[in-house]
Amino acid sequence: MPGRQFVIVGGSLAGVKAAETLRIEGFDGSIVIVDADHEPPYERPPLSKNALLGDDDWSVAVLHDEKWYADHDIDLRLGRRATAIDLDGHTVSIDGDRDPLRFDRLLISTGADPRRLDVPGADADGVRYLRTMDDARLLQARLAERPRVAVIGAGWIGLEVAAAARTAGAQVTVVEARSAPLLDALGATVADVFTQLHRDHDVTFRFGEGVDEILTVGGHVRGVRTSTGAPVPADLVVVGIGVAPNTGLAEAAGLEVANGVLVDERLQTSHPDVFATGDVANWLSPVLGYRLRVEHWANAHDGGEAAGRSMLGKTLGKEGTGYDVLPFFWTDQYDAGIEYAGHVPRDADPDVVTRGDLSGREFMAFWLSENRLLAGMHMNVWDTMDAVQDVIRSKRPVDPAKLADPDVPLDQVYA
Ligand SMILES: Cc1cc2nc3c(=O)[nH]c(=O)nc-3n(C[C@H](O)[C@H](O)[C@H](O)COP(=O)(O)OP(=O)(O)OC[C@H]3O[C@@H](n4cnc5c(N)ncnc54)[C@H](O)[C@@H]3O)c2cc1C
Repeated sequence: MPGRQFVIVGGSLAGVKAAETLRIEGFDGSIVIVDADHEPPYERPPLSKNALLGDDDWSVAVLHDEKWYADHDIDLRLGRRATAIDLDGHTVSIDGDRDPLRFDRLLISTGADPRRLDVPGADADGVRYLRTMDDARLLQARLAERPRVAVIGAGWIGLEVAAAARTAGAQVTVVEARSAPLLDALGATVADVFTQLHRDHDVTFRFGEGVDEILTVGGHVRGVRTSTGAPVPADLVVVGIGVAPNTGLAEAAGLEVANGVLVDERLQTSHPDVFATGDVANWLSPVLGYRLRVEHWANAHDGGEAAGRSMLGKTLGKEGTGYDVLPFFWTDQYDAGIEYAGHVPRDADPDVVTRGDLSGREFMAFWLSENRLLAGMHMNVWDTMDAVQDVIRSKRPVDPAKLADPDVPLDQVYA
């Protein structure tokens, strides 16, 4: 298809995987990737793990060297922000460019940005977020000074930062409005394991407290005043209160947006030539039968590949039903390695079954609705997630007693 031009707005994991897939699938038209970040495209998980501690150099996060883009004839435009999409005219405007960029097909993979803290003092020097490589470099330099750190929010990023900061020798207090970390995602039983994990590493939790003010002296952070009024002394505040999808471009263009850019099973938006995937997309899952937006590495990776295929009109999924992956993610905190597969809808109120040794941090947890497996997780019980995914996909009823028994293989837990 020479002469055709595919444009990808957002050149992180999802965007680069899509470009890679277009070439693998034989697309020989032009590919332009536009990304607001000035760094060569990189993936984010190392930014809150070993690289943050200086154990790895930052190059572990870089997806490809610059030569790769040249070799694959991919026009990578870094430090450039797309400002508008004209759907009828099939063009994208780029900040600073006089002429808009023409596209035959467009992928929106603009990801998500951290939600900002909106309290007095939140602009102070020493209030940090963690999303980009620049953010991580700044944080790494500050952690090396062994500051007193207040982490706002006990979600995945907050807990990883707490672990990294403790490993770096900093004093760490985590302020969390709920009564436990990750409570909505995991429920109380499993959340308590994370509380204990961090307490065993001398992290202090301030549960049930909101943040009212960042306390400063001369513009520098000196602490956090929480809703109880009791201050948390701190030289560095790291905010991890979730992310919001970057839907502004899509919305202004008139694409359908609701908690992300709405796409169908083929990752196609409400315009037939425009696709979206990764953290920004809210897609209709053919496996689950409902929409979801996922903020994890595997979805950006697999979704990028799927979007590349879909832009070429190829079928997706094992049975051609569409983008049919189950959500999957991992996290590493101290010596605990965690993987999670599946999805629990917000209103599900699932039953939780565990197997193994929770206090020894070698266990699995399962979330069930009417004895059907919605999701499974392990802590330090490796090579289990493929079997968990098979049980979820089967949609067959399981026997909770068998699930709870470590001696019953996961392919024999059915009722
Ligand atoms: C510190 C950290 C650690 C993580 N660790 C894990 C982990 O352990 N496991 C896991 O499963 N997931 C993890 N994640 C989540 C995972 O990194 C994300 O799900 C993934 O990065 C999403 O990829 P994406 O390509 O969809 O979007 P993003 O990575 O958000 O990239 C979007 C890109 O779009 C660009 N962009 C946005 N708007 C515009 C515009 N208008 N014009 C041009 N460019 C634009 C941005 O600059 C950015 O480069 C982590 C995330 C962070 C921040």
